[in-house]
Amino acid sequence: MLDQHPAEHHALRVWLYGHPVDHSLSPGMHNAAFAEHQLPFEYVARDVPVELLAEAVGDLRSSLVRGANITLPHKQAVAPLLDELTAEAEKIGAVNTVVNEKGHLIGHNTDVAGFRQALRSVVPSGAKGLSCLVVGAGGAARAVVAALLEDDSGRIRIVNRTMEHARLLCDSASRWGSAHCTPVPFSEAEEWVGQADLVVNATSLGLSGSVKDLPLRVDTLHGGQVLVDIVYRSSLTPLVELARTKGIVAIDGKEMLLQQAALSYEMWTGRRAPLDVMREKIDNRAR
Ligand code: NAP
Repeated sequence: MLDQHPAEHHALRVWLYGHPVDHSLSPGMHNAAFAEHQLPFEYVARDVPVELLAEAVGDLRSSLVRGANITLPHKQAVAPLLDELTAEAEKIGAVNTVVNEKGHLIGHNTDVAGFRQALRSVVPSGAKGLSCLVVGAGGAARAVVAALLEDDSGRIRIVNRTMEHARLLCDSASRWGSAHCTPVPFSEAEEWVGQADLVVNATSLGLSGSVKDLPLRVDTLHGGQVLVDIVYRSSLTPLVELARTKGIVAIDGKEMLLQQAALSYEMWTGRRAPLDVMREKIDNRAR
């Protein structure tokens, strides 16, 4: 079989580029899905320091590579290195999925739709008309705010440690068509938390199990509210755990992780993602 094209006897590679990547749940999830569909694909995490990103993006043009996921800290920096961006990726200014179409690299952002799907697991009608409080103003918060606007949410308040970042995100939101976004300093967060229907943590706080790392005071939450913490780790985040003890409907970031992954999978393979297989993989790792 030596005369075969290399792509015929090598698995097509899908990379995860980030720094660090060693604790990612994505390889297990995607490889289980490829195996379920008996597809000759292999998903491999690669630790790419910032200074090697351009070179690593060049590697994606190979005929042996189908694409990549891009994670922290490269989601924004990768955008200008690609040949084309979808309208969503262009709008957010961040890419989490790359598809290699015969050497032409297309950047997508599946975090926006992933968040919308995840929200529907607890609020079937989505954010329509809901008053929302988003904590955080980084890349993920941009995707969350874009998703809330696509859902036609009510007022959005953005609380962030660095007020300027919250202001900039509200400026983006107004360009995206919302006249209802207000930046709020951290010191005033408590005033607004109780008034929101939906509270989203999109900071990176909560990765450690420590309660002192909570992004907001849980006693300001009350029954009837919905909390989405987009942070995930093997067990529940302290914020979600505490909110649930107060009877608040709360999910962590695993559902968003699953939903954004399913959309990426569909782009690389043209197949509908086997959600149950992928979810089981995340749950097994989470135990
Ligand atoms: P990022 O761009 O670095 O933004 C980090 C955010 O957290 C900023 O708002 C930052 O505030 C805030 N922050 C960081 N340390 C803080 C501290 N000690 N006190 C208060 N605020 C702090 O990161 P990102 O890409 O937005 O990611 C944020 C989180 O979302 C990560 O944990 C990531 O894993 C998660 N995420 C999950 C999914 C999913 O599928 N579930 C998808 C994407 C991201 P400043 O502006 O003041 O620096």
